[in-house]
Order: sequence, then structure tokens, then C-alpha cells
Amino acid sequence: MAKQKTLHDAFYETLKDVYYAEKQSVKALKKSAKAAEHDALRQAFETHAEESAQQVERLTQVFEIIGKPARAKTCEAMQGIVSEMEEDLEDFEDSPAADAVLAACAQAVEHYEIARYGTLKTWASQLGYAEAATLLDETLQEEKKTDALLSKIAESINTAGTPEDSEPSKKGKKAA
Ligand code: FE
Ligand code: FE
Ligand code: FE
Repeated sequence: MAKQKTLHDAFYETLKDVYYAEKQSVKALKKSAKAAEHDALRQAFETHAEESAQQVERLTQVFEIIGKPARAKTCEAMQGIVSEMEEDLEDFEDSPAADAVLAACAQAVEHYEIARYGTLKTWASQLGYAEAATLLDETLQEEKKTDALLSKIAESINTAGTPEDSEPSKKGKKAA
């Protein structure tokens, strides 16, 4: 019979998942920074791309702490979020809603990361990896801060777009 999996196994598997996801997020942020028109939005993407590269680094430290090789395991959730983003980018390219759509896609990424890092931080503490928990919390705080910043920026993007819109009631999720 196969050996029963432990919380430590779950921790390692989730670490591999987020290691993949984080690397993907660096690429997505760079792409978003290039596409963004709104200055504050572009700045937020650039800043967080740099932060995310450090977060990848932090994850390699966590792998070291638990004495396991730093490996990435395909995260289908992040793949899905990124492919939606690419689709939206194409659909809304050069449209007045392009920046709003970019911000929304980025927030989906941040929310996934917040879920993952929150779990990993708790598990690290429970497993007695205090130093790893601290590292994971640093990243978690950066993700939360980025999400909050994007929420704030999104308000200014959306109000900037409204006056030109002759039909303010037209709030469909997908453009026809
Ligand atoms: Fe991240
Ligand atoms: Fe995943
Ligand atoms: Fe992030």
C-alpha cells in the first residue's frame, strides 16, 4: 500500500505549484506593463514584476529550508488565468476598456497568489518552519498590497473612460 501522504507532502506540492505560478506571473506582468496605457497602471505592473522576481527567489529559499529541490509543477489554474488574459488582451486591444481589462486580469492573478501564499504560510507555521513562514508572509503582504493598489487604480481608469461613453448603461462583460 502506498505510504499515506502528509501535510509536509501537501506543502511541498503546493510550493511547486506556486513556484510555477509565480514565474508565470512575472511574464504576465511584463506583458501587461507593455500593454498598459494608464501611467499608474503601467508603473504598478513594472514594480510588481520586479517584486515577483524577488518572490521567485524567496520560494527557492523556502525549498532550501525544507531540504527539497526547487521544482515547478504546472499550475493549471494560473495557466487558465493567463490564457484568459491573453484572450482578453487580443479582444480589447486598443479599445477604451483595454486598461480596465488588464487590471482585472492582474487582480485574478493576485487573488490566486493570495490564496496560495496564505495557505503556505499557515502550513509552514504548523510544520515548524518559522523562517519559511516569515518569507511566505512577506510575499503574501506584497500580493495583498498589489491587489489593493490595482483596485484603487481601477477606479480611476473606469471613471476616466466614462465621459466618452455615450451609453453609460452599457456595462456588458464582453464587447459584442
Ligand atoms: Fe507573486
Ligand atoms: Fe495551482
Ligand atoms: Fe503578485
